[in-house]
Amino acid sequence: KPVLNRAQFHTSVAQLRDLPYSRAEVAFAGRSNAGKSSALNLLTRKNRLAYTSKTPGRTQLINFFEVDADTYLVDLPGYGYAKVPAAVKAKWEGLLARYLQEREALVGMVLIMDARHPLTPLDWQMLNWFTPTGKQVHILLSKADKLSNSEKTLTLRRVEQELAALGNVTVQLFSSLSRLGVEEAATVVEGWLKP
Ligand code: GDP
Repeated sequence: KPVLNRAQFHTSVAQLRDLPYSRAEVAFAGRSNAGKSSALNLLTRKNRLAYTSKTPGRTQLINFFEVDADTYLVDLPGYGYAKVPAAVKAKWEGLLARYLQEREALVGMVLIMDARHPLTPLDWQMLNWFTPTGKQVHILLSKADKLSNSEKTLTLRRVEQELAALGNVTVQLFSSLSRLGVEEAATVVEGWLKP
């Protein structure tokens, strides 16, 4: 059974032809600052794991962390930086879109959204690229510690309702700070990676 705390950095790739052989992988996506690195670090119980993806030169690469033989967590580049030149942005969007649409070993996507600002146009773009594959999406409404209990419930319901038509999408509250929802998220991802 894949256990996420075994994750170790494996490789970074800049183009689809360099993707490693993989039996199964789960991709983590989210706009910059949504809390993706914190979530990955907490899920793998490795304090610095996902910060590898933030080191200079790695921010536009697809980063692979091996959990088990030929089984990976994949940290996709954070999207949504306004300051990136248009040509760089277009190239990296093309890479993301093709990876999400074409990667056979990809079994599901975890999409991290700041619970205070869920479903941005960029989040919809990721969903629109990926959900036609029919594969699973699991959304983490991150930084939930910043919401009151009633706001938490309301946000969860609203996002679930907005995505109901897509079918294969599940949603949960998550906080790296209070550790809310860590077990729930780990169970989803480990379940997806199971042989
Ligand atoms: P990334 O850019 O999506 O990888 O986001 P990071 O994980 O680096 O987090 C961005 C910022 O949000 C950092 O300052 C984190 O400390 C903060 N942050 C991340 N997760 C949480 C959370 O669950 N609660 C709170 N309050 N802050 C968080």
